[in-house]
Amino acid sequence: MSLYQHILLTVDFTEHGNDVASKAYGLAKTCQAELSIVHVLDNIPMPDTSYGTVISLTEDSDNELLETEKAKFNEIADRLGVALANRWLIWGVPKQEIVQVAEKIKANLIVVGSHGRHGLALVLGSTANAVLHHARCDVLAVRLQDE
Ligand code: AMP
Repeated sequence: MSLYQHILLTVDFTEHGNDVASKAYGLAKTCQAELSIVHVLDNIPMPDTSYGTVISLTEDSDNELLETEKAKFNEIADRLGVALANRWLIWGVPKQEIVQVAEKIKANLIVVGSHGRHGLALVLGSTANAVLHHARCDVLAVRLQDE
């Protein structure tokens, strides 16, 4: 059996996202693992959907902000060849939703980007820190090159 069977890539649409995505993609190929991808919408008002906080990727809405985020998400997922069923676009708090999706899909590795934070920023915490402390599976923190 390979090292990891199901890898969950977390994406936040920042310029460093490609580094994180490449690592997750490469690992999935090496381990012949299934690759899932999640983005948590935490910067727009909660969309009015019939699926609670999980956003449908097959139905269009008249919410422009949401459609823009969806397009960005699908572009990354398309590029990585992620199956539709493995795409998770969710409204909520990133650290909570990432851990919940990982449990739901039984991922055995979560891949997150990690900034080399110090001082107050470290005390306040980061997504990577929170995921590391709450996930029940392994977490790969990809060190991001901060400006
Ligand atoms: P941060 O600690 O917020 O700078 O984010 C570090 C990493 O957490 C990013 O590189 C992503 O891998 C992940 N992440 C942050 N925000 C989100 C989000 N809204 N949805 C999914 N993943 C995220």
